[in-house]
Amino acid sequence: MPETLKRLIDIISFLPWIGDKTGAKLAFFLLKSNHAYVENFSRTLHELQTHVKECPSCHGMMDGDQTECTICRDSTRDTSLLCVVEDYLDMIAIERVGIFKGKYHVLGGSISPIHGVMPTNLTIAHLFERIEEMNIEEIILAMNPNIEGEATTLYITENIPKKEIKITRLSKWLPHTGLIEYADEITLLSAFKGRR
Ligand SMILES: [Zn+2]
Repeated sequence: MPETLKRLIDIISFLPWIGDKTGAKLAFFLLKSNHAYVENFSRTLHELQTHVKECPSCHGMMDGDQTECTICRDSTRDTSLLCVVEDYLDMIAIERVGIFKGKYHVLGGSISPIHGVMPTNLTIAHLFERIEEMNIEEIILAMNPNIEGEATTLYITENIPKKEIKITRLSKWLPHTGLIEYADEITLLSAFKGRR
């Protein structure tokens, strides 16, 4: 096998959820694809490292030449509502449904002592700073329905700096096996509407 093709298969197979067989299939797909597609693919991959950055306010993602992401910059959004999510993909899933018009905070994971993830490994300290600075009336803790999500919810609820703020959680509509990232729109809508 040509060295470059072998290297491409190795690179693709290294990605999560993709084994050697799928890696080889995708590599052959790219080999047979038209030049413009492969060129665009390669340029986008390269730009991913330089043109995409973490938003310093919410810890979501933003274009590298901006100072804040589009949601943080959007003055029409309700600053009295703050939705706390584990990962950027959860934020994307909630945005896709379009039910939430407040601001976000991305924790960068969930508390899991077994996996060595403690509150200090997440952006919780910055979340508390933002809570002190912002005029928030309600915080929606949109954690995933699992042990780590529960631990994170508990930690934030117990340590929140302003005790008078209303804290809500997504309703139990989210199936226990499902993650927010993969929830369908109706499930997410119900979970948001039924929050308490
Ligand atoms: Zn942001």
